[in-house]
Amino acid sequence: LVEIRDVRKTYGGVVPVLNGITLDVEEHQVVCLIGPSGCGKSTLLRCINGLEGIDGGEIRLHGDRVSGPGVDLDALRRDVGIVFQSFNLFPHMSVVDNITAAPIKVLGLGRKEARERAMELLARIQLDKKADEFPDRLSGGQQQRVAIVRALAMDPIVLLLDEITSALDPELVSEVLNIVRDLRQEGMTMVLATHEMGFAKEVASKVCFLYGGVVHEEGPPAEIFSDPHDERTRSFLQRII
Ligand code: ATP
Ligand code: MG
Repeated sequence: LVEIRDVRKTYGGVVPVLNGITLDVEEHQVVCLIGPSGCGKSTLLRCINGLEGIDGGEIRLHGDRVSGPGVDLDALRRDVGIVFQSFNLFPHMSVVDNITAAPIKVLGLGRKEARERAMELLARIQLDKKADEFPDRLSGGQQQRVAIVRALAMDPIVLLLDEITSALDPELVSEVLNIVRDLRQEGMTMVLATHEMGFAKEVASKVCFLYGGVVHEEGPPAEIFSDPHDERTRSFLQRII
């Protein structure tokens, strides 16, 4: 579904952050990106939905090139949803307006239809009663759940999740991870950057260890977590688990 080929990315400096990343995401897979802070997990996710341009290589979605010149970024961002660590809800809009804004503006949905759909999504996460509140009246976990359904409101082909629990108090983490579990059950294709190794082990179809700007090791979670082939993967996991 997503084909990432030899992707390179350098920010201002000389050292490339992504130095030839090659990675496939199949339909219905949950791919977990792990690796030390600064290894480029967020950068890779941002490149996949075109928030960052790439300097080399190619990214394809459904076989269509979605990187490089001439790409329709609006279409790409419609198809590829992203949720960040820091929720990023629009503070001046109610919860339901946060969810309906893009469907109305980008998909051309009518107000009524968009609102009905948003209310369904909110009911799924038991937050329909909060529809008309402003985000600052919600807990971090609730805000993050709203951010996830806001992305879902666009009916994305792929959902990218960047450390979506790392800004949360520990007791709020599980309510957010439960949504990811549900989405996985429903077959949503997801790529997630995470430091939650236990969770990665549970939900991942494939785990990719990023190091030195490349996918240093990848495989099914059982293999990566129990029997990493590579010394660097092993020492990273020893430090973190
Ligand atoms: P973490 O686990 O801490 O979230 P990460 O794996 O997501 O880290 P990135 O955020 O992708 O790492 O950053 C990779 C490298 O690129 C870092 O060295 C970072 O300082 C640098 N970097 C990220 N964004 C920018 C930017 N907008 N401008 C310049 N350098 C950047
Ligand atoms: Mg990051």
